[in-house]
Amino acid sequence: MGIEEKLPSGVLLSTVEGLAGYMRKASFWPATFGLACCAIEMMTSGGPKYDLARFGMEVFRASPRQADLMIVAGRVSQKMAPVLRQIYDQMAEPKWVLAMGVCASSGGMFNNYAIVQGVDHVVPVDMYLPGCPPRPEMLIDAILKLHDKVQHDTPFGKNREKRVLELEAQGLV
Ligand code: SF4
Repeated sequence: MGIEEKLPSGVLLSTVEGLAGYMRKASFWPATFGLACCAIEMMTSGGPKYDLARFGMEVFRASPRQADLMIVAGRVSQKMAPVLRQIYDQMAEPKWVLAMGVCASSGGMFNNYAIVQGVDHVVPVDMYLPGCPPRPEMLIDAILKLHDKVQHDTPFGKNREKRVLELEAQGLV
């Protein structure tokens, strides 16, 4: 008989990692970081109509040291890429990146030398959100999907570390 069957009903078993994931997903603090038109929709998501505070996200932090979620809201210019990477590096682990909109995800309509063709050339991305621009409902949906990922994935997973090393080896950052 397993220990679960021996325990009286109402006793919940979990792992420390599972509990930490549950707490983390319920208390994202995004970095204040908007790059282009998508940022307007991101700001709207934080307003009273869409109320991101329902999901523990009432504070966008001006300091990357206090943020654990980077929402890349808009196209990333080549000039901005090193700055974006620096902000990412300054955020403490565990941290996540959401590419908001087609420009951040793949360069979008800006298929030219000035724009990075997807922010995953600069930082590892955990969630891609299509749209031009994605509406606040879509951003909230992506955040809720990211919640699932945070709950069930370890943020220090091998793939993530591997991707960071690959980016560094390519000299892209
Ligand atoms: Fe602007 Fe559309 Fe690109 Fe967002 S996806 S930054 S709204 S052009």
